[in-house]
Amino acid sequence: MTPPHPARNLDNLPPYLFAQIDAKRDALREQGIEVISLGIGDPDLPTPTHIVDTMAAAIRNPANHRYPDYAGSLAFRTAVADWMHTRFGVRVDPRTETLALIGSKEGIAHLHTAFVNPGDYVLAPSIGYPVYSGGATLMHANTYFLRMRAETGWLAEFDDGPGGIPAEVLERARILFIGYPNNPTGAIAPPEYFDEAIAFCKRHDLLLVHDNAYCEIGFDGYRAPSVLERPGAKEVALEMFSLSKAYNMTGWRIGFAVGNPLAIKALGTVKNNLDSGQFTAIQDAAILALSGPQDCITSMCDLYQHRRDLVLDALAAIGIVCEAPRATIYVWAQVPAGFTSAEFTEKLLTEAHVIVTPGSGYGPDGEGWIRISLTTPDEQLLEAVRRIKGMLA
Ligand SMILES: *Cc1c(COP(=O)(O)O)cnc(C)c1O
Repeated sequence: MTPPHPARNLDNLPPYLFAQIDAKRDALREQGIEVISLGIGDPDLPTPTHIVDTMAAAIRNPANHRYPDYAGSLAFRTAVADWMHTRFGVRVDPRTETLALIGSKEGIAHLHTAFVNPGDYVLAPSIGYPVYSGGATLMHANTYFLRMRAETGWLAEFDDGPGGIPAEVLERARILFIGYPNNPTGAIAPPEYFDEAIAFCKRHDLLLVHDNAYCEIGFDGYRAPSVLERPGAKEVALEMFSLSKAYNMTGWRIGFAVGNPLAIKALGTVKNNLDSGQFTAIQDAAILALSGPQDCITSMCDLYQHRRDLVLDALAAIGIVCEAPRATIYVWAQVPAGFTSAEFTEKLLTEAHVIVTPGSGYGPDGEGWIRISLTTPDEQLLEAVRRIKGMLA
């Protein structure tokens, strides 16, 4: 082999799910085929105007042209603390219990550098955001996948009793990752589930990481909580938030971590050594997103709820019955009998020219399911269901 030689652990990463699907889509599009993507969870609507306007002005402020504060501007961290209070009734210290992130994916990935030693374990949902386990692999560490089942509402099962997580795994475990409202299942968690997670992490000396990327997207009156509302949470928990889905800001790369001050400090130390923070103008715009009018959230939820119902009705009409999610931008559907997730996804792409995501791409228990994203205009959503109907007929 000729140099350069990439690190061995790069070979241990599964191929990034969406990169593979994108390649197939591009190949079809090159043949002139119109492909409808219900694949990636990326809001189709633009960032609300008041946020964009704030950014436009902030770009012109020369103070913003210099290196940002590593941990985030004090103004941004104060806005985060204020938002935690108005939104959840949770009090946090902006200086020691909040941290700006270059998107929450960045923070989740760097948590492994901050908390996981080579050979250690992270406990991650067996159907979940690929970064939980990918970050462990990059640290030469292992992932133990927590079972998830439809019968128990897709709540990742952490169990230290007989037949549960092996003692030798628990001994070397450092982080428990969970996230509700859940991508990809759309499941939500009751407060007792968070209490159990907190108690479990205390028993086993784990950092509890709650990925709350979808807290602002709820339906039928549902408003997702923060894990930090629960008693004792701050002793073990770090919560990861993102402006990406809540304010249609995926391209801006801004999020934040809130919670246990030691965890904030460790993550901040990693970031000090690896990045120099997010552009302060983006933080200025994010301040306005968090502290300005929130009616954009209400109209966004109305829109996704409408699309959810449209998709559920259309799927039911062709014999695919799914549970109505109370939150997120996804519908989680069981594949017809006789197909694996990958086979059905492939068939949808090649025969109906519709992209969905195979549940198996999110981990072992996702087999037999697909994720349909609601980030596509109504007409295309309906056209996609028509094509699926045609294919199944
Ligand atoms: C979208 C998403 C994120 C990351 O969002 P950022 O754009 O990096 O802030 C994190 N977790 C889950 C489960 C997501 O779906």
